[in-house]
Amino acid sequence: MKPLLQVRDLRVTFDLGRHGRLTAVDGVSFDLARGEFVALVGESGSGKSTTALALIRLVPPPGFISGGRLLWWEDEGPVDLLRLSASQMRERRWRDIAMIFQGAQNALNPVMRIAEQMIETMRAHHSMPRGEILERAARCLRMVRLEPSRVLRAYPHELSGGMRQRVLIAMSLLMNPRLLILDEPTTALDVITQAHILEILREIQEQLGLTMLLLTHDLAVVAKTARRVLIMYAGQIVEEAPTEALFEAPYHPYTRGLLQAMPTLRGDLAGKRPIPGAPPDLRHPPPGCRFHPRCPYASEICRQLEPALEEAGGRRVACHHWQQVAQEVLAPEPYG
Ligand code: SF4
Repeated sequence: MKPLLQVRDLRVTFDLGRHGRLTAVDGVSFDLARGEFVALVGESGSGKSTTALALIRLVPPPGFISGGRLLWWEDEGPVDLLRLSASQMRERRWRDIAMIFQGAQNALNPVMRIAEQMIETMRAHHSMPRGEILERAARCLRMVRLEPSRVLRAYPHELSGGMRQRVLIAMSLLMNPRLLILDEPTTALDVITQAHILEILREIQEQLGLTMLLLTHDLAVVAKTARRVLIMYAGQIVEEAPTEALFEAPYHPYTRGLLQAMPTLRGDLAGKRPIPGAPPDLRHPPPGCRFHPRCPYASEICRQLEPALEEAGGRRVACHHWQQVAQEVLAPEPYG
């Protein structure tokens, strides 16, 4: 598959003044191919949203991108998004890369009808006649299975949470972006609405050949959508694998812990085992492997030497003992 975006050694630092500095995204590298559906998974605070904000260069202060490259592939070759001027980047945002922020369905303007909000969104980037925008808006609303004649006239409060989320997806499609980033698009929605939205996303992705990057803490959401998964812990990618392979045999103890924390893994709530402990304070990350204080496989080398993200049979994993973890997948879990 042709590359669309290559993220190389991306770093995002927050300057907290007298409280020090923390690197929320620390040396993250991954590729997104054209037309791929990829999930970026991690607990809250793992750095996934900050990574996404860095991709569109909207990291809020006191954060800043402190290193790396974002190679965006055009037909003529790659352009480093980090080298573009602020106005060049503004032009590409939403046109090339659109992002739906977490909880954005509550940020729709409550006193404006959906039609006006879609027109305003479009006009912020293109001068286009109203009629043409409305035609395009209706097309995008149909893609998310909403009835344009009803929804365009509605105010946000007249729509359910799931409908508002679908309106946002339709809005993000207005400019035909090549990459759509969705941050926790189904959080706070009921299970049936969640499933419906995930199905719509998959459908749109296939129909339009769009590249999608879905951010979530929930592996159940991943199983229903993405073909490839990136697992993030404490600002770093710790495992990357095709979805099916990852569910069959996680190679990293953190991925394994996430899978064991899924209530439906064995079809009952009793099987749910949260990962013990909490993610580290990134102002003072632990030496060696950042997961070692929570890891049942940790040994002396883990406490001293940071594992590199290495190729491991068609996937990438950052763990000194991944072979052991991979072999023990079907054995009784070490968490308990
Ligand atoms: S490197 Fe060691 S501490 Fe880190 S995940 Fe692997 S086994 Fe656990």
